[in-house]
Amino acid sequence: MSGLRAWGLALLLLGAGVAWRLWPREVAPPALPPEVTPPVIERGVRRAAVAPPAQRVEDVWTQKNRRAIELLEAGDLEAAVELFAECVAGDPAEGVFRGNLAEALARLARAEYEDVETRPEAIEHLTRAVELAPERDQLTELLARWRAEAAVEGNFWTDRSLHFRLSYDGDRGELLEGGYDLVLRTLEDAYGEFADLFGVRPAEGDAPPIEVVLLEREEFSELTGLGHWAGGAYDGRIRVPVVDLSKEERQLVRVLRHELVHAFVQEAGGRGVAGWLNEGIAEYLEQPAGAAREAAVREARALAAELKLRSLDELGGTLASLGSVEEIRAAYVQSLAFVGWIEHWYGEQVLFHMVSGCSKGVSLEASFEAHTRVPLASALEDLSLDLKR
Ligand SMILES: [Zn+2]
Repeated sequence: MSGLRAWGLALLLLGAGVAWRLWPREVAPPALPPEVTPPVIERGVRRAAVAPPAQRVEDVWTQKNRRAIELLEAGDLEAAVELFAECVAGDPAEGVFRGNLAEALARLARAEYEDVETRPEAIEHLTRAVELAPERDQLTELLARWRAEAAVEGNFWTDRSLHFRLSYDGDRGELLEGGYDLVLRTLEDAYGEFADLFGVRPAEGDAPPIEVVLLEREEFSELTGLGHWAGGAYDGRIRVPVVDLSKEERQLVRVLRHELVHAFVQEAGGRGVAGWLNEGIAEYLEQPAGAAREAAVREARALAAELKLRSLDELGGTLASLGSVEEIRAAYVQSLAFVGWIEHWYGEQVLFHMVSGCSKGVSLEASFEAHTRVPLASALEDLSLDLKR
C-alpha cells in the first residue's frame, strides 16, 4: 500500500541539533546536552603557566572567536565563518576554533542547500566542515547523502509552477510529455486545499518553492534508504519513485498528496509532530474528501480490528523506524484509523489544532483535551473498544 512512507527519515541526517563546542576561557559556556563533553583547553593552561597574571589579557583570537559566536547566533553565517576561519588561521592548534568553524560551515551549508542555485557551494562548505571535524558522523553522513543526490539529480530537467519546482530525468519521455503537467497540477490543487486546512502557506513570501523529485525506483532507494514498501518520502523535498507512469497515475496522485501533507505539517507544527498524527493526517488527506477517503478509513478500521493497538507513545517517533514491514504497516493502519475516529467524533479541526499546537510547545494531549474535553488516551481506548464490536 502506498501509505508506508518515511516522514522524518532525514531528521536524523539533517537535524541541526549540534551543540556548540566549548570556547576558550572567559566566555561562560552555555548548557550543553549531557552527551557533549567540553574539550579541555590545554592552550589556556599553558598560557597561564607562563604568563604573569597582569598580562593575562584575553588574546585577539579569543575575542574574535567570541564575536564570531555572536554573529553565528544572530544568523550572519558568512561573517561568522570568515571570523572563525581567521581564528583557525591565527591559532591552527586550537581545537575549539576548528570545531566552531566546522559548526558555522555546516550551518552555512545547510542554509545554502535549501536553494538549488547555491547547492554546489553547500557541498563545498560541508566538505570543509567534515575535514575540520571528521569525528562528527552526522556531518559525514550528510555530505555523503548530498553527494549522492548531486550525482543522481545534478543533470535533471526542471519545471516550475507557482509553488513547486519539479526535477526529473529529461530522458524519460513519459515524464517530459505530460507527466510533469499531471504532477504539478496535482500538487497545486492540493496546495490550495491544504493551505486552507492547515492555515499555513509553506511556499510563499520569502520561502523557496517546494522541491519535488521524480526518481527511478533504484535511485529512490539509494537516496532515501527506504525499501520497496515506500511510495515516497519527504525530507524537506518530496521524492517519489515513478516506474511506469502510464500504470501509476492514481497511485502517483495519492503519493504526491500524501508527501505534500508532510510539508504542511512541518510548516504548521515544526519537526516534532508525533509520527502517528503526521502519518495519520497524511494517509487521511491523500484521498480527496468524499467517498474515496471514507473508504480508506473504513479499510484501515477493518485492518486495525485485527491488530493489538499500540500506545500513542510507541507511535510518537518515525513510524518507518518501527521494525519490520508488517509492524510499520500496522502503525500506519492504526494511525489512519485513529485520525478517522477523531475526525468522526470530534471534527477534523482538532487534528489541525493539534499540529499547530506543536509549534507552540503545546502537547497533543493538551491540545486535544482543550478542544474536546476528552483525554486523548480515552479517545484511543474508545476506538479500540469500538473496533472489537
Ligand atoms: Zn508519510
